[in-house]
Amino acid sequence: MGFLRNVLRRLRNSAPRMDWYKHKHEDCVNFDNGVCINAPRFLNLTNLNPKGQSCPHFKAKEKVEAEKI
Ligand code: SF4
Repeated sequence: MGFLRNVLRRLRNSAPRMDWYKHKHEDCVNFDNGVCINAPRFLNLTNLNPKGQSCPHFKAKEKVEAEKI
Protein backbone atom coordinates (compact mmCIF):
# COMPACT_ATOMS: atom_id res chain seq x y z
CA MET A 1 0.00 0.00 0.00
CA GLY A 2 2.98 2.28 0.53
CA PHE A 3 3.69 2.10 -3.19
CA LEU A 4 0.17 3.20 -4.08
CA ARG A 5 0.35 6.06 -1.63
CA ASN A 6 3.62 7.24 -3.20
CA VAL A 7 2.13 7.11 -6.70
CA LEU A 8 -0.88 9.12 -5.59
CA ARG A 9 1.31 11.69 -3.89
CA ARG A 10 3.45 12.11 -7.01
CA LEU A 11 0.38 12.58 -9.17
CA ARG A 12 -0.96 15.20 -6.80
CA ASN A 13 2.35 17.10 -6.76
CA SER A 14 2.76 17.06 -10.53
CA ALA A 15 -0.80 18.11 -11.34
CA PRO A 16 -1.20 21.69 -12.54
CA ARG A 17 -2.42 24.06 -9.88
CA MET A 18 -6.13 24.59 -10.28
CA ASP A 19 -6.76 27.20 -7.62
CA TRP A 20 -5.43 30.26 -9.46
CA TYR A 21 -8.94 31.62 -10.00
CA LYS A 22 -9.37 32.13 -6.25
CA HIS A 23 -6.71 34.85 -6.14
CA LYS A 24 -6.43 38.49 -7.11
CA HIS A 25 -3.88 40.33 -9.25
CA GLU A 26 -2.70 42.27 -6.20
CA ASP A 27 -1.50 39.04 -4.54
CA CYS A 28 0.52 38.04 -7.59
CA VAL A 29 4.27 38.58 -7.77
CA ASN A 30 3.90 39.77 -11.40
CA PHE A 31 1.58 42.60 -10.46
CA ASP A 32 3.23 45.99 -10.32
CA ASN A 33 1.09 49.05 -9.75
CA GLY A 34 -1.70 48.00 -12.11
CA VAL A 35 0.58 46.40 -14.68
CA CYS A 36 1.19 42.71 -15.24
CA ILE A 37 4.94 42.44 -15.87
CA ASN A 38 4.51 38.81 -16.98
CA ALA A 39 2.13 39.53 -19.86
CA PRO A 40 3.41 40.15 -23.39
CA ARG A 41 3.21 43.85 -24.20
CA PHE A 42 0.71 43.43 -27.04
CA LEU A 43 -1.88 42.25 -24.53
CA ASN A 44 -1.63 45.67 -22.95
CA LEU A 45 -2.42 44.58 -19.41
CA THR A 46 -1.51 47.97 -18.01
CA ASN A 47 -4.64 48.99 -16.17
CA LEU A 48 -5.55 45.94 -14.14
CA ASN A 49 -7.92 46.16 -11.26
CA PRO A 50 -5.90 44.97 -8.22
CA LYS A 51 -9.03 43.21 -6.93
CA GLY A 52 -9.65 41.52 -10.29
CA GLN A 53 -9.52 37.75 -10.66
CA SER A 54 -6.09 36.34 -11.32
CA CYS A 55 -5.07 34.43 -14.43
CA PRO A 56 -3.57 30.89 -14.72
CA HIS A 57 -0.06 32.42 -14.54
CA PHE A 58 -0.71 33.61 -11.01
CA LYS A 59 2.25 33.26 -8.68
CA ALA A 60 1.63 34.02 -5.03
CA LYS A 61 3.78 36.77 -3.51
CA GLU A 62 4.06 35.04 -0.13
CA LYS A 63 5.28 31.84 -1.75
CA VAL A 64 8.07 33.64 -3.59
CA GLU A 65 9.10 35.42 -0.39
CA ALA A 66 9.17 32.08 1.45
CA GLU A 67 11.39 30.54 -1.25
CA LYS A 68 13.93 33.36 -0.86
CA ILE A 69 14.45 32.64 2.84
S1 SF4 B 1 -2.57 37.09 -12.01
FE1 SF4 B 1 -1.90 36.88 -14.13
S2 SF4 B 1 -2.55 38.79 -15.13
FE2 SF4 B 1 -2.59 39.10 -12.91
S3 SF4 B 1 -0.61 39.98 -12.41
FE3 SF4 B 1 -0.46 37.76 -12.09
S4 SF4 B 1 0.32 36.95 -14.02
FE4 SF4 B 1 -0.42 39.02 -14.42
